Amino acid sequence: MMLLEPSPTPADLRFSLAGIPVRVHPFFWLMAIFIAGLDRDPRAVLIVVVAIFVSVLVHELGHALTAMAFGNRAKIVLWMMGGLAIYEPGTDEWRKRVLIAAAGPLAGFLFAILLAVGLLATGHTLIWIGSGPGAIVPLVNGISTDGLNVLVNALFFVNIMWGLLNLLPVLPLDGGQITRIVLQQVQPAGGLRTAYWVSLITAGGVALLSLTGGRNNLFLTIMFGLLAYQSYQAIQALSGYDGFYDSYSNRRPW
Ligand SMILES: [Zn+2]
Repeated sequence: MMLLEPSPTPADLRFSLAGIPVRVHPFFWLMAIFIAGLDRDPRAVLIVVVAIFVSVLVHELGHALTAMAFGNRAKIVLWMMGGLAIYEPGTDEWRKRVLIAAAGPLAGFLFAILLAVGLLATGHTLIWIGSGPGAIVPLVNGISTDGLNVLVNALFFVNIMWGLLNLLPVLPLDGGQITRIVLQQVQPAGGLRTAYWVSLITAGGVALLSLTGGRNNLFLTIMFGLLAYQSYQAIQALSGYDGFYDSYSNRRPW
């Protein structure tokens, strides 16, 4: 269900970037505001929403530009569960599909590196003050500015942490797609089922581990709990049959 493109609405924001049509569903802003945290002051929420928007767009551009480099048409849809880079007609070459899936998180890591280099090159100092969101403080001449701190921390956090989470072998995340493509290549008959088992175990493990983190990790617990359940359902649906998800193989969320 996460793989299906949401219907257009009158409130969609539409524009085009590097020749790629982009559509932002109104639910995307609701999700971003929820993640930014409603208990913060409105200015900080706005900055974090902008950071999430930029970061998810960078991620999807990574997928879409790589797909285009392989001769596919691509479009981007941002909505509730992040983003979708949809490309057609979809390549049959498995190595290219692995590269397209990996390009999203890699674009985010590259963006984070460029951001760090850009800040250092403009006379900022980056100070690491702990772990978790809000851990990096950029200083100019020893003075930190709150707005810049919020923006930089959100950009680093989303591009690095979401990129790493996305590389977990959990379907339908990018790491799960990579695992599925490789396993189906190695084991054409049962590869999809194996990929869902890997996904179920990994997502279940992350959900259980994040339970120990309390309220801060509640979002992770719920999300990976749902993904584990989805994998379980997919395994049930696959009993005796393999390959029916292939029609979605060129649709990647996040
Ligand atoms: Zn992705």
